[in-house]
Amino acid sequence: MSFNIERNGKKRVVIIGGGFGGLRLAQGLKKSNFQVILVDKNNYHQFPPLIYQIATAGLNPSSISFPFRKLFEDRKDYFFRMAELTCIYPEGNYIQTSIGKIDYDYLVLANGTKTNFFNNKNVEEWAIPMKTVPEAMGLRNTLLASFERSITCSNEQERDEFLNIVIVGGGPSGVEIAGAIAEMRRYVLPKDYPDMDTSKVHIYLIEGGKRLLAGMSEESSEKALKFLQSMNVEVKLNTFVTDYEDHKVRMNDGSAIGTRNLIWVGGVTANQVNGIPDSALGRGRRIMVDNYSRVKGFDNIFAIGDISLMEGDPNFPNGHPQMAQPSIQQGELLARNIIALEKGKPLKGFVYKDLGCMATIGKNKAVAEIAGCRLGGFFAWILWMAVHLVSILGVKNKFFVFMDWIWSYFTYDQSNRMILRSTQSKVMKNIEDTLRELHGHDDHKEQTTEK
Ligand SMILES: Cc1cc2nc3c(=O)[nH]c(=O)nc-3n(C[C@H](O)[C@H](O)[C@H](O)COP(=O)(O)OP(=O)(O)OC[C@H]3O[C@@H](n4cnc5c(N)ncnc54)[C@H](O)[C@@H]3O)c2cc1C
Repeated sequence: MSFNIERNGKKRVVIIGGGFGGLRLAQGLKKSNFQVILVDKNNYHQFPPLIYQIATAGLNPSSISFPFRKLFEDRKDYFFRMAELTCIYPEGNYIQTSIGKIDYDYLVLANGTKTNFFNNKNVEEWAIPMKTVPEAMGLRNTLLASFERSITCSNEQERDEFLNIVIVGGGPSGVEIAGAIAEMRRYVLPKDYPDMDTSKVHIYLIEGGKRLLAGMSEESSEKALKFLQSMNVEVKLNTFVTDYEDHKVRMNDGSAIGTRNLIWVGGVTANQVNGIPDSALGRGRRIMVDNYSRVKGFDNIFAIGDISLMEGDPNFPNGHPQMAQPSIQQGELLARNIIALEKGKPLKGFVYKDLGCMATIGKNKAVAEIAGCRLGGFFAWILWMAVHLVSILGVKNKFFVFMDWIWSYFTYDQSNRMILRSTQSKVMKNIEDTLRELHGHDDHKEQTTEK
């Protein structure tokens, strides 16, 4: 297998990852004179802030996903390749991926993070993460299957395990999924399952720190806690999950909760890139970059977004928050800087414009901190919806998300409550096996694949 992309006299920029950062960079290079190659292991861009609504059957996966090929359909010298980066070889200016090698003039790592299970093997094996669209689909299937199964249990302990939902991590994702499931319990389950005693559905939110939404003010944390408690979510602060075995989540205070629905949104760690030396890694194994997003020790390798840790911003000594805005702003600036580099012009250093943050807990319940203003309740919720609608890619996606929101606002109903299991054709399986085989032989070793 190979990339099958010829050199055409233009300098080549290879971007790994079409998330918020990588995509914005690719868009910024639109009018430049580069050959741009975007490499992503998926063939679509996803919009993580609304992933929890996929998991709770509020939205369709296609409403928050956008195919890369559609984005690049009318562009010359833009190429997309669905492939997974496995290693970089800076001395030869090329990378190894699951479909072969490709050389570059500029390489940009924008491949984000993965869920951090903090080396807890049982949790990693059994917990349900919620970082990607397929994982959100897996979570939706699990929750719906648990509800189905619970009404057929003859054993009370088993029934409770199916109805207890334990969410680990009190950041925005944990708060949002807890609120959404609480609304499902209140408005959807009594209609869908008239023979279920919904008072037996317990939702727990476990957080290791002393407050929820640690990235926001104490006032917003307090509001979020009150909103969740008013929705009967049982919040446990200052509590760490230590293990999961025999359908029981164990905690450091000695307590345990029986559950088959363990949702893990407890943190992320940077994706590892083979070929980047350990000396270039910082906190959370993020790749250390200078003020121009250039990876420490390299001239033509850059890292942006969640995977990077930019040094030198006195307001963010531990790096910028792993959120959409830093990634977008770094992608935009890097596009301008790569163009400037080619023209021999001076580069511009990155200055993060903090546009604030927000989290929604349920209908009419959100917290927002924007431009020094702290909002809570209905106005924060309207603002949250407006910001997210504007940010989703594609007019069709905006329309469908808006219609789904209007529908569920008036009907208190989420329409996507199907357990959809995927089946794989033999051809697809064969493609995946071939890629896996290539991958397996790859780790850090030279391949015989032609460059
Ligand atoms: C559930 C959830 C909710 C969130 N909500 C918010 C929110 O409300 N507001 C906010 O500001 N931020 C939110 N975030 C954080 C935000 O999504 C990230 O900060 C942002 O997506 C980071 O952008 P990025 O470009 O660095 O990486 P990502 O957007 O993570 O993109 C990385 C890309 O790299 C690809 N990739 C990964 N590994 C490889 C590989 N080896 N080879 C090829 N491709 C690869 C992936 O497929 C992906 O497309 C949320 C995150 C999650 C998971």
